[in-house]
Amino acid sequence: MQILKNRILKDGLAVGTEILKVDSFLNHQVDVTLFELIGADFRTRFDDIAENVDKILTVEASGIAVAAFTARYFGSVPVVFAKKEQPSTMEGGYYFSEIMSFTKRKMSSIRIDKKFLQAGERCLIIDDFLAHGQAALGLVNLANQAGARILGGGFVIEKAFQGGAERLREKGIRVESLAVVEQIADGVITFAE
Ligand code: 5GP
Repeated sequence: MQILKNRILKDGLAVGTEILKVDSFLNHQVDVTLFELIGADFRTRFDDIAENVDKILTVEASGIAVAAFTARYFGSVPVVFAKKEQPSTMEGGYYFSEIMSFTKRKMSSIRIDKKFLQAGERCLIIDDFLAHGQAALGLVNLANQAGARILGGGFVIEKAFQGGAERLREKGIRVESLAVVEQIADGVITFAE
């Protein structure tokens, strides 16, 4: 998605060789015009399965906005975001998975209330970043526990050098990323294509 790549080059900040800071338009301040285009692009990429999507899954917090805009292009299906903390109101049981956060350098956990993920539901994962794939694999794990199916994963930015896409594809999950970063070096961001 050329407009996204241009924006990353214009406003993104390379932090060392691993992290891309895009908080001016993606995950702190949100550019809603760009998010509309992102939603439309995900629809184009997943058009062949769009009619089958029952639900969009993501992880709080930065996945929520992009998932919500994307859902508008998939018949306004519900968006369910996995929570990182257990709220006291989550009483009826939940699916739970531990994930490693390489950006925060610690283990964390995600959970979805059992009433929002049902057996047989066909889900699309949408998230802001695909790095090592831990968050997405955690969602796959939650879906497996529920007996739900993952039709694919859509990511705004994939950092190809961290292997997340490979890990998902090894599990038979289709991956569509709107901007694939091949390398971050000396403050320069290089895209795969
Ligand atoms: P993964 O689980 O694939 O290793 O990382 C995915 C999550 O970590 C994303 O949902 C995102 O919140 C965060 N993340 C990973 N890499 C980056 C990055 O370079 N920049 C930012 N802002 N977040 C990242």
